[in-house]
Amino acid sequence: MAARTSRSARSGSSTETATLLKAAPPASSRQSTALSAFTATKSSPAGLSRTPLHRPGDHLPEPGRPRSTRHQLLSTRTPRSADTGTRTCRRRAASPSRSRALLDFRTGAPPGRLAAVLGDGLPSPRTIAAVRAAVTSEVLSRHVARISGIEPLVEGKPLKVRSRDASAADNARVVEALARRFEDLGLTVRLHPFRWRGHRLLNVEAEHRVPGAESTVLITAHMDSTAANGDFVDADGDPRPYDPAVDPAPGADDDGSGTAAVMAAAECLRGLLDDGREPTRNVRFVLFNAEEQGLVGSKFYARAAAAAGDRIAGVFQMDMIAGRQQGSSPVVEIHAGSLVPGPVVSASDALGERVARTVPVIDSGVTVQQLTGPADPAAGRSDHASFHERGWAAVAVSEDLFSTPDGDPGTGTRQYHTPGDTLLDPDHNPEFAATVARSVIATALAFAGL
Ligand SMILES: [Zn+2]
Repeated sequence: MAARTSRSARSGSSTETATLLKAAPPASSRQSTALSAFTATKSSPAGLSRTPLHRPGDHLPEPGRPRSTRHQLLSTRTPRSADTGTRTCRRRAASPSRSRALLDFRTGAPPGRLAAVLGDGLPSPRTIAAVRAAVTSEVLSRHVARISGIEPLVEGKPLKVRSRDASAADNARVVEALARRFEDLGLTVRLHPFRWRGHRLLNVEAEHRVPGAESTVLITAHMDSTAANGDFVDADGDPRPYDPAVDPAPGADDDGSGTAAVMAAAECLRGLLDDGREPTRNVRFVLFNAEEQGLVGSKFYARAAAAAGDRIAGVFQMDMIAGRQQGSSPVVEIHAGSLVPGPVVSASDALGERVARTVPVIDSGVTVQQLTGPADPAAGRSDHASFHERGWAAVAVSEDLFSTPDGDPGTGTRQYHTPGDTLLDPDHNPEFAATVARSVIATALAFAGL
């Protein structure tokens, strides 16, 4: 997840109205989840962020955050009385700007009953089973260990990754290792070069193409890391700035966790294909570079995809999915919010709905927070935003990164952008990561026709 910009931090000094749509946990009846809406007032959107998301060194360009607030769309969904699906409620934000829609959705319904309630669109039991088998906490941890320096990057070779920062030498080594792994899975691998501040960087793309398919589903994360929020000292013990070329930036959670999930998704697809199953859409895995520098790699990628005439049905980005403080109850955030108005808003909301409905099938004990609208605190801050800018539906799924409008802090990692973001950090929870990854991957594969 990229840092908040100084501009967005400053621009939020006015009073903010946030709307919270809350679904009470279902009691006895699975059909009667009641929605209540209320508003909360914030003095500053900085209060939405639990972690110090702005530092003087941050320089994420903000792609055209609208000053106007007229197109606010809050969308949520609540189960209806029969098994005919769901009802969508749309409301306009009262006033002024920057409302935040938050759906707190918890259900205890067993998977079978839930499927009956929610109707089509959920992954099939067969796909769920395949995802559960392929996407485990052990698999994810293994991938994270390799790319964050706990284990050698390549088995049998000594190198352990120190940093995946766009300025670090290991960045290219990780790109190569991940590309090799995709190739081993029989996928068509392409490297997308681009330049950033004198560095030649690469996005990694791996695709399974389906003859006759008319569109493509993307499962994505960012492979680079940063430790720009860390405390560093020079030889005299005096504070000094982060040196991205040499300082350690393990990025186990940000976004080693999402990268691991994308690799596991590719391994899962390989297994499904080997079982004779075939999607109806192309499935593409993309690992973006230089996300932390302002979504640089994904902006390049989305621009190139648009120029090539790609038809992208939806983008499922996973960015920071392993953070869960010990003792906290599990909460996943689904970010569909966009700084770009237009049809992309509702299309992204629809993708978010799909993920939200899959989560309780994977684990009924997880609370889902759906965030949408331009005041979604992740709007413009992960690679899904680069696709919004091109008009494509995209969501970013994360741990409980942001505090709620009423001030409850998030329960995600406390090592955001520090050298302490390691696999060994107590806030790094591979089981939670597996729950999130399974939910997103099953949704994406189902969306691709599996
Ligand atoms: Zn980040």
